[in-house]
Amino acid sequence: MGLKYCQGPSCHTYHTQDRLKGIKGSKTYQTRRRSNFYYGNSNFCDQRCLYDWVNKYIEQGLDHFGRTTQAKHLTEDNAWVKDYDYQGSWNNENRTFYYLNKITKEQRPLTEAQYRDNNYTINTGE
Ligand SMILES: [Zn+2]
Repeated sequence: MGLKYCQGPSCHTYHTQDRLKGIKGSKTYQTRRRSNFYYGNSNFCDQRCLYDWVNKYIEQGLDHFGRTTQAKHLTEDNAWVKDYDYQGSWNNENRTFYYLNKITKEQRPLTEAQYRDNNYTINTGE
């Protein structure tokens, strides 16, 4: 895996020792370069760089991809979330798994396998 650069537009302007590179007399602060980053889908070295990018490009992004201009609705058909109850202690035994509808409060039983299966859903769409 090659090294990649932090995508923060101002990364090179933050004065940390690890950004200061070069030989004596011609040192510069440089954009961070690593094999992996942990912010913004692995594109930014820290939260500051991520939010620098967001603040610079968010208006263009919203104009490009479309703004939310009216309320979206989460309907009863799509309000199911997985949940479970403990019976007693915090170990894995005696848990009961269920689907809970966040609007109607209806519960439907789930197996543990269905609970852990990220593809298993009874929601009908977005
Ligand atoms: Zn950065």
